[in-house]
Amino acid sequence: MIPLTLAEVATAVDGRLVGADPDARVTGTVEFDSRAVTAGGLFVAFPGEKVDGHDYAAGAVEAGAVAVLGTREVPGVPMVLVDDARAAMGRLARAVIDRLPDLTVIGLTGSSGKTTTKDLIAQLTARLGATVAPPGSFNNELGHPYTALKADRETRYLVMEKGARGIGHIRYLCELVPPRISVVLNVGTSHIGEFGSRENIAVAKGELVEALPADGLAVLNADDPLVSAMASRTGARVVRYGEAPDADVRAEDVDLDDRGRPSYRLVTPEGTAPVRLGLTGRHQVSNTLAATAVARELGMPLAEIAVALGELGLVSTRRMDVFERSDGVTVIDDSYNANPGSMAVALKALASLGRGRRTVAVLGYMAELGPFERDGHAEVGQLAAELGVDRLLVVGEPAAPIHDGATAVGDWGGESVLLTDQAAAVEVLRSELRPGDVVLVKGSRYRTWEVADALRATTD
Ligand code: ATP
Ligand code: MG
Repeated sequence: MIPLTLAEVATAVDGRLVGADPDARVTGTVEFDSRAVTAGGLFVAFPGEKVDGHDYAAGAVEAGAVAVLGTREVPGVPMVLVDDARAAMGRLARAVIDRLPDLTVIGLTGSSGKTTTKDLIAQLTARLGATVAPPGSFNNELGHPYTALKADRETRYLVMEKGARGIGHIRYLCELVPPRISVVLNVGTSHIGEFGSRENIAVAKGELVEALPADGLAVLNADDPLVSAMASRTGARVVRYGEAPDADVRAEDVDLDDRGRPSYRLVTPEGTAPVRLGLTGRHQVSNTLAATAVARELGMPLAEIAVALGELGLVSTRRMDVFERSDGVTVIDDSYNANPGSMAVALKALASLGRGRRTVAVLGYMAELGPFERDGHAEVGQLAAELGVDRLLVVGEPAAPIHDGATAVGDWGGESVLLTDQAAAVEVLRSELRPGDVVLVKGSRYRTWEVADALRATTD
């Protein structure tokens, strides 16, 4: 964070100083885990259900915190007192962002691929200037300001994903950290249980472009009609990316190599360049086009973008993480999360990577689908069968409709089995896997990653 006096902090958060020196300066980081506090920092005490941050206030000061931002006084601890510590942290983030005129904030949303694309964009912007991007998702009202508060006068780019759990949610996140470039990737069905329809999800995600200033830029997926339509919701400039012939930033002649890594011809108003990705999965074509649109806006020359795209790596784990075991089995660990859209992407990657090889999909439950739960799972099973996946291991009773959806496909030559838990899946894999097999592991909130970990740990 940029150095601020406690008086400035109090003003920013509309708080009251108690037992604190108004001229004392916060020079360190803002933390809500007292173990992370370092000298000169500010500790934020949240009144949690199980753990109350105020219990750690004195310890934080001992560790070097200049003061504690919290909702009640703690004897002997210099405090910035507020009514709502979460909201206060958000306001502090906004105050810091407003003091950084040279900072460009890039916000992303979408149903799938936010973290992946955030990491791609951050790798590109890091070539242009100091970049702050959160590890992993950090996309809510806590992670968001926490990340923004990492920015200082050196920082040129702040790249943040914004998750929407309801209407107005992204609007609020944009009030805390207003974007100058807004990227909308896709409108799928994650969290559809809470929203009711894809159209409602589009309403919520479009708030990201509504928040743009007139000189901002909306980067929209031309291949997703609900995203493309968001152009009418902003007065800012719009760049459309995708494979649609009228997209401004376009991929032509997309091809996948035998390891599922895409190559394509990048077409932009400035010219064309060949791109060969080291990343796995066709969905990375779309994600890298989005990143390209951002890099262009920031002044990176096309030839440099094309080279940089080829050097992009995976940053956040368990997202299409492909590894080869010593026994010749290839594993795609995509176990971080799942919704019907990302399941489809991952199954297609399995099919292309597994061309000519035996393919195995270990699929778990997808959370947060609400009334679409049954159909959402069944469609995934159906797609797995239609793509010709050879062996399907469905993990856990809640995911049973995946099994039903697959077995309902009449001419499928593969086989599905419904297993009670992860351990059962690991057992089956242990006895069935042969050199050359390709295994995809994917699910959400059902600890499917335990299967991926077991595959990583054992090569027998
Ligand atoms: P969350 O809402 O959990 O934060 P996210 O939007 O950040 O998710 P990622 O973690 O980047 O999404 O990716 C999750 C999975 O979605 C990937 O592992 C991959 O299977 C799939 N995915 C990535 N990019 C796309 C895309 N452009 N379209 C569809 N699916 C994608
Ligand atoms: Mg994420």
